[in-house]
Amino acid sequence: MSKVKIKRKPNLLERLIGVKAKENVTTPKPEPVVLQPALRQIGITGCPVCKREVAVYLTKTQRPFVNCGFCSVRIFYNGRESMRRLKRKMTEVGE
Ligand SMILES: [Zn+2]
Repeated sequence: MSKVKIKRKPNLLERLIGVKAKENVTTPKPEPVVLQPALRQIGITGCPVCKREVAVYLTKTQRPFVNCGFCSVRIFYNGRESMRRLKRKMTEVGE
């Protein structure tokens, strides 16, 4: 009786383990540095919430915007009336 050698194909798991898992090693790509231009300050006004002095900036969409460093309120002036009232109270600053 002669033994018959059966060539066994490696199963999926063995194949996966055998394969060098090079694809799994991901080298962290350096994040592209995006330089954002600082918002232009157009004036100073009192914070409507805490009444401290806050800087008024102009957003990219040309709307006034305050971000109070004391009480953390953020206000966007999106309408004509709010902008009008802000302008009345605001002390404008030059470039
Ligand atoms: Zn405030």
